[in-house]
Amino acid sequence: PEVAALVASRVVDVPDFPKPGIVFKDLMPLFSDGPVFRRMIDGIVAYHGADSFDVVAGVEARGFVIAAAMAYATGKGVVPVRKAGKLPRRTHSASYELEYGEATLEVHEDAFVAGQRVLVVDDVLATGGTAGAALELVERAGGIVSGFTVLMELSFLEGRRRLAPRTVHALLTV
Ligand code: 5GP
Repeated sequence: PEVAALVASRVVDVPDFPKPGIVFKDLMPLFSDGPVFRRMIDGIVAYHGADSFDVVAGVEARGFVIAAAMAYATGKGVVPVRKAGKLPRRTHSASYELEYGEATLEVHEDAFVAGQRVLVVDDVLATGGTAGAALELVERAGGIVSGFTVLMELSFLEGRRRLAPRTVHALLTV
C-alpha cells in the first residue's frame, strides 16, 4: 500500500483525550512497527531530498523520534525544540495557543550555525501553533526553515496557513 494508506490504517482515534471533545490521533502504532516506521522515514526523506536541509529540528517529544531517524538516514544533525525549562543553557522562548491549552517552546540560542537550513519535524500538524512557534524559534536562533514535515495533517484546522509560504509536507492529510 501507499505510505499514506499505511498511516491511515494504523492511526488510532482516541475520543476525549486529553480533554472532552478532542479526538486525539494516536500515531504510536506507526512508530512501533519497524517496516512501517522505515517506510515513513524513507518517504519523508525522499519527498524533501537530503540536499534540501542541513539539520533536522524535532519538536518534543514525538518529533524527536522522527527527527532522529531522518538525521541518521541522511547523515545530518538533529536539534531539539523543547518544552519550557528543559534546556540547560541560554534559550529563545516562544509561547502559543494549542488546540487544547497553552504551551511554551524553547531552543538553545546557539543551536544553529547562521544560515543553516533547518527542516522542522513533528508528528501532527493541527492548528499550526506549535509549528509556528518552532519557526519563530529557529529563525531567532539564526537558522532558515527550509520546510516542515509531519506524519499527519488535520487540514480542517488550517495550520498550514500559519506557515506559508514555506513548504509543508504531510504523509497523510485528513
Ligand atoms: P498544533 O500546535 O498544530 O495545534 O498541534 C500540534 C502539536 O500538538 C504537535 O506537537 C502534536 O504532537 C500535538 N498534537 C495535537 N493534536 C494531536 C493529535 O491529535 N495527535 C497527536 N499525536 N499529536 C497531537
